[in-house]
Amino acid sequence: MRKITTILNFAFTCSLVFFSSFAVVAQSETDDNTTIRIDWDVCKYYPSAETHVSKINVPEYILQKMARGGSNCSTFIVNYNGFTPEAEAAFQFAVDIWSNALESVVPIRVEANFGPLDPGVLGGAGPAGFRLISVPGVPSNTAFPLALAEKLEASELPDASETFSNDINATFSSTANFYFGIDGNTPSNQIDFVSVVLHELGHGLGILGFGRVDDPDMPTEGVLRNNGFVNVWDNFIENGTPEAITSFADPSAVLLTELTGNNLFSNGPITTLQNNGIKPSTYAPAVFRQGSSYSHWDEATYPPGNANSLMTPFISRGEAIHDPGLVTLGFMEDMGWSICGGSLLSVNDFNLNTVNISPNPFDTSFTIEFNSNTTDVFNVSLVDINGRVILNTTKSAINGKLSISNLEHLKPALYFVRISNTITGHTVIKKLVKE
Ligand SMILES: [Zn+2]
Repeated sequence: MRKITTILNFAFTCSLVFFSSFAVVAQSETDDNTTIRIDWDVCKYYPSAETHVSKINVPEYILQKMARGGSNCSTFIVNYNGFTPEAEAAFQFAVDIWSNALESVVPIRVEANFGPLDPGVLGGAGPAGFRLISVPGVPSNTAFPLALAEKLEASELPDASETFSNDINATFSSTANFYFGIDGNTPSNQIDFVSVVLHELGHGLGILGFGRVDDPDMPTEGVLRNNGFVNVWDNFIENGTPEAITSFADPSAVLLTELTGNNLFSNGPITTLQNNGIKPSTYAPAVFRQGSSYSHWDEATYPPGNANSLMTPFISRGEAIHDPGLVTLGFMEDMGWSICGGSLLSVNDFNLNTVNISPNPFDTSFTIEFNSNTTDVFNVSLVDINGRVILNTTKSAINGKLSISNLEHLKPALYFVRISNTITGHTVIKKLVKE
């Protein structure tokens, strides 16, 4: 596999930006010395003016794994600076939720700071850097957040000084009125610290795009690419037409219209399936809000108390969200993360383990094999990484097998195959690579 190891240093995606650390490191087997700097806020996480006492519990399957202990699907190495014992315990609880939700064989390194911030700011976090890695089917100008890039490469990606750099930088206010309990019983006058940490680590793991404006105070143009690069998130965003956000002139006034049109959605196939077949709305209010717009789910679609409200731009007093939510986890899976214990689609739908697809990678055909001699009728569709349906067919299984052929015209790429039982309605999605 061709490996490009340019690192795009992203000192901070959230409110506290350490401009001094924007040194850009580039090293590569291909001598690619692309210099990338990212210097805007992706998330400014403030408390909303509202109070909304509500509680979304840790999902049962994650709680059970946490209770067993030591069975995490990924290992977070957190360097705590300045934390009180209660703040550290709550932070670790949020870390444990993510480490039981996502899989990686590579440790995820988090630099966590706890100290005084500007009034009102709860905290911030983001990927410490971005990497260009070669992933089949993903445009070559796509940058991956460091933790995800290392997961996909299954190895540490040391920087030019050959040290294992942080994957995520996080800072939280030591003076905000936080509730540090981990039970989600947040008083109506406090902000739930576990929820804030869970949210910010979500950005650090990849919930963010590069969409922004030329001037946050008086924007005239929307901007997407950063020195020609998009983030993996950006490849999955489209408007209602649908037109891909990557298809607009960049920078341009038209792109600003798109970013502020209340009309942007994620077309990630797994994300969409987790949202009952509806492409989830991303936050794109009429006035671009740097630190809120574009890199969050829509607040109105997922209000306080909604199971998918973790990655919306606002948190209310009294609101506890201890669940990443199926839409966010689906998006993580679309971007390349693996869900702890197998695809989360198997949680509700028929078990992924009962469906085998071979060969994978495929060339001109592949065969779907069920673990029974079913003769049910299945709808099979092949979807590309932008959610476009490439092939759609309905066939009966014969002795538990179903073959899809004549695929020589498909270009080599990553695809999703969606298999839906037309009788039971059970649906499963698996990833497939065309050679
Ligand atoms: Zn945020």
